[in-house]
Amino acid sequence: AKNNGKGRYAFYTPALTEQIVHRIRNEYALRRAIEVNEFVLHFQPRVNAVSGELLSMEALVRWNHPERGMVPPLEFIGLAEDTGLIVELGKLVIDQACMQLAAWQAQGLPVVPLSVNVSPVQFARCDLKAVIAESLARHRIDPLLLEVEVTESCMMQDSEKVAQEIASLKSLGVRISVDDFGTGYSSLSQLQRLDLDVLKVDRAFTQALNTGRQGEAFFMTIVSMAHILDMQVVAEGVETREQLAILQSLGCNEAQGYYISKPVPASLAATFMLKRSLF
Ligand code: C2E
Ligand code: CA
Ligand code: CA
Ligand code: CA
Repeated sequence: AKNNGKGRYAFYTPALTEQIVHRIRNEYALRRAIEVNEFVLHFQPRVNAVSGELLSMEALVRWNHPERGMVPPLEFIGLAEDTGLIVELGKLVIDQACMQLAAWQAQGLPVVPLSVNVSPVQFARCDLKAVIAESLARHRIDPLLLEVEVTESCMMQDSEKVAQEIASLKSLGVRISVDDFGTGYSSLSQLQRLDLDVLKVDRAFTQALNTGRQGEAFFMTIVSMAHILDMQVVAEGVETREQLAILQSLGCNEAQGYYISKPVPASLAATFMLKRSLF
């Protein structure tokens, strides 16, 4: 590269051309992967923080790439959002979650609800209610078995429109959770107005429990707020026994994280449903 970054011809450096080509190639690859559905779901349990009983599982998408192997979502969700491909990918995820529930039910397993992640782009750009209703109907799934995770920051964008979307989803009978809570800037009144079911406290707050009194006080405040709003509280990213013990003492209902289990493939997730406790 002749104009190493700073020059005014930086625009035409081979590096940038390379970047564009790279991106077009990536977009094409992602589009093709959606067409042939190379995506699989892994499942991470959410348990009662005191008893360890399995309460639900979060479906987390992976791209099962023929050469690269299992590609984590952070490597393709951004591109899927930028290109709008997230709408189609999101449909695949929702349908696959419903299909998995139906398969487990057919095996006679005592299924628990599954939660699916929904991107803000998906939320804004497609009729999510229709997409979910269609998958539920196709696989004959009780809406109570599906939960939709919407990030806190998404909920706070254009609050009137979001409020309508949420009300429309709730009318289907699915549960709604606020994902990554604590990283956005929602107000109590906004949360109350939206009538949400579950508050998933971001991993950062669980990590802060190790650092002493202030971390605990923060978490305790979130727990009491959630309870005032009649919401369940889930601590995300629980990695240690010590964190779990503090969460129990703070009255946090549910826990999710590597201490309990990493996200696992469907076959292993099925065995969780047969255990009395995951601790
Ligand atoms: P998220 O919704 O906050 O999901 C939790 C992420 O934290 C997962 O990463 C999970 O593996 C990881 N995690 C769980 N427990 C622990 C822990 O104890 N410690 C640590 N360090 N990490 C933990 P994953 O599967 O790589 O997903 C990353 C993000 O990708 C998700 O964050 C979510 O925002 C997004 N994502 C995943 N699946 C989908 C999907 O189907 N649709 C959309 N739109 N986004 C998705
Ligand atoms: Ca999530
Ligand atoms: Ca989260
Ligand atoms: Ca409520």
